[in-house]
Amino acid sequence: MKIKYCKNCIIPETRPNTEIDTNGLCSGCTYYFNRDQIDWKKREEEFFKIVNKYKKKENLNHHCIIPASGGKDSTYQVIKVLELGLKPLVITISTDWLTDIGRQNIENIKSFGVDCLEFTPNKEVRKKLNKFALQTVGDITWTEEMAISCSITRLAIKTDVPLVIWGENSENENGGPEKNSDYIEGVVQNHNQEWFEEFGGTNGLRSSDILYAWKDKGIDELDLIPYKFPTADEFGKKKVEGIFLGYFFPWDGKNNAEIAIKNGFKTYDNWVEGNIVNYENLDNYLMRIHDYFKFLKYGYDRVSDWGSLQIRRGRLKREDAIILSKEHGGKYPKNYLGKDLNEILKFIDMSKNEFDEICFKFTNKKIFRTNSDGSLQYDNSGNLIKLNYDNE
Ligand SMILES: [Zn+2]
Repeated sequence: MKIKYCKNCIIPETRPNTEIDTNGLCSGCTYYFNRDQIDWKKREEEFFKIVNKYKKKENLNHHCIIPASGGKDSTYQVIKVLELGLKPLVITISTDWLTDIGRQNIENIKSFGVDCLEFTPNKEVRKKLNKFALQTVGDITWTEEMAISCSITRLAIKTDVPLVIWGENSENENGGPEKNSDYIEGVVQNHNQEWFEEFGGTNGLRSSDILYAWKDKGIDELDLIPYKFPTADEFGKKKVEGIFLGYFFPWDGKNNAEIAIKNGFKTYDNWVEGNIVNYENLDNYLMRIHDYFKFLKYGYDRVSDWGSLQIRRGRLKREDAIILSKEHGGKYPKNYLGKDLNEILKFIDMSKNEFDEICFKFTNKKIFRTNSDGSLQYDNSGNLIKLNYDNE
């Protein structure tokens, strides 16, 4: 099978929730081109209409919650809402394995003069979940998205701050399913556990599955609370409204990085391994394995994503993006942010042999070169070779 790509950018059709329409354009490009027709002034007014509702409320200690990993985007979000005159509660949910740069960037946000809260779910449980999620669904950082969505919503209920301002809806930026269209409207209303298990990006692994698999191995229901979306009962009478800043103000990751850097955000000395920029995904040593598995399953990587965003904005030619993608994308994750793969695997108590077996298990053999006996082909550096990088 040949992989079909968007004719404008380099996103393949194999990317989940990506459709290439009859004009050959992916949903991310279509969405981006439609931005021209957006009345941003009106969107800004809509933003203030929502926010003012909370500003006027009595007994609120903060106007909104900003979930912040300390990355370039959340650094920008904090700067932006301060500019807009809001008093946020910044909440950091610790990553699987926080890097040194990640720590510095969290501390940097604290220097902006905001109240901050940091929640670190049980680290020993988390490592077991990282390993289990890699083995079962090929997603070592399944915990990340779960912990952020679920724990932020839980903390919104507990702290009585009913508005959460998220960054960009990645389903918009990269194309996403119509069924998530309530996201696309910019506002997420009081969803409950049922909705979350269906649309919340659980990747087919629910906390109930983990409980079932681990019930005799020292993980109990309470350990999994940070990864479980609140039930309707837990919400009670409280409402939590979520909005995406990127819906109301034009979003540009590169621009966010520039603003963050001007405000003390630390970047990596070189391009981040597996990427071609120095300002993305600096806060979790496990993230490259997560990215590599996307490549094994769907044939796209950080370079495809970043390159496509730049093509849409006229900063990179498609043919150059293809060259970059061939040269730098999808490589075996030998190291990340200076840490060796063996050390990273040791963290989750996994041998390299087992890791390689899991890689093989999750590799989509239809999109990589194989030998006549069906085994996978590798280049001289031990990397898989995609069947095709362009439609020709
Ligand atoms: Zn595209």
